Amino acid sequence: MIATAPTSASRPILAPIPLSVPSNSNSGTLPPLHEASGFATFGLRSPILRAVAAEGYTTPTPIQTQAIPHVMQGRDLLGCAQTGTGKTAAFALPILHRLSEPSTAKRKGPRVLVLAPTRELAMQITDSFRVYGKYLSLNYTVVFGGVSQGSQVAALRRGVDILVATPGRLLDLMSQGCAPLGEVETLVLDEADRMLDMGFIDPIRRIIAKVPAKRQNLLFSATMPPAIATLAAQILRDPAKVSVAPAATTVDTVSQSVYFVRQSDKRSLLREVLRDPALSRAIVFTRTKAGANRVTRDLNEAGVTADAIHGNKSQNARQNALTAFRNGKLRVLVATDIAARGIDVDGISHVINFEIPNEPESYVHRIGRTARAGARGVALSFCDAAERTYLRDIERLTRANIPVVSNHQFLANSNEPTPVPTRQNRGGRPGNRRWGRG
Ligand code: AMP
Repeated sequence: MIATAPTSASRPILAPIPLSVPSNSNSGTLPPLHEASGFATFGLRSPILRAVAAEGYTTPTPIQTQAIPHVMQGRDLLGCAQTGTGKTAAFALPILHRLSEPSTAKRKGPRVLVLAPTRELAMQITDSFRVYGKYLSLNYTVVFGGVSQGSQVAALRRGVDILVATPGRLLDLMSQGCAPLGEVETLVLDEADRMLDMGFIDPIRRIIAKVPAKRQNLLFSATMPPAIATLAAQILRDPAKVSVAPAATTVDTVSQSVYFVRQSDKRSLLREVLRDPALSRAIVFTRTKAGANRVTRDLNEAGVTADAIHGNKSQNARQNALTAFRNGKLRVLVATDIAARGIDVDGISHVINFEIPNEPESYVHRIGRTARAGARGVALSFCDAAERTYLRDIERLTRANIPVVSNHQFLANSNEPTPVPTRQNRGGRPGNRRWGRG
């Protein structure tokens, strides 16, 4: 269990914490624009403050308020925070601050290594570094699998300050002698729980073995299962511990509900709920890649603009789908858990769990896609008989009962596990409105 500073549990996760600017801050040397910034209090260099102001951030988010001072001091950090809380800036800003210190040393290898579970997250982190560091002259590179390694190798040869990587591709490049890590000063493990879920523990250990022992370590995780606590204990030295979304709590700005429905009726139910124009930008989660394709086809046939992202799609196809979703050209993005990690799209109105995840932590991750940046969001879960135990696990983890929607035409009866649907057995039975949870 990690100690928590005052958390944002009772307010939107990006709700700002008002900060006063102390007299010893460097705000006096900055233009008035930056004096208004709550970020000045951290003592960040002015090019970074200017970049933050250009992004429109005026007030640090809770994770930033808690984490930045520790990272600035060079301490190790264990951060319990979901994507969407502003955690990237929480580590990127103080890292950029340190890298912007004048230095005459000629370096070849990266000084900062950030490990992330997916290409999407790795790219987003790199973009964030570029945005926050746009008034600094630093080099950033991202490496991930699924694309040719030529340009990644060339970028590493030219020399980089900050390397963001997925573990598998980085190990490949290391084994070819293309990714020297002997000058790494700061190591960041982002979404560590997901990296463990994806089986990256061994690659992570092999990578860490090649990084200098004397370094700063920052580990972020949306949840804190025992495996993460063990990893943290092995990697971090006397870490500061900060938390904004305590493990197993769901974001309170997400309104959640569950539909009991037969598996075979789920696609019809999905079409039905999508008749509501309030579902303006929705992510639909499926358990399998084939399932994602099926749902996407079905939605397209029903005239809904939808595309799928999952591990079998090329990097380009995934990027195009994400861009179209971001631009509002797609109403629905159908995704598997892994592909959706780290997706940073504002204004997602609904998250739909077409299938209930078998790991309750994934539910927390999934619904965290909506209600970002303080907005309100809606999470709908379609639960068949076989998924009831998963639902129970989620309710146990989140310590909340998810309200049941009982007035829909595909309501299923708990005593009929997965019957073949017929016209006759569709529809609800008033006497059997909800399934028991116990
Ligand atoms: P992250 O959790 O790092 O993925 O950030 C989630 C979103 O919050 C991103 O779109 C950031 O651009 C945005 N963000 C981060 N920090 C702030 C801030 N202090 N004020 C407003 N937006 C922010």
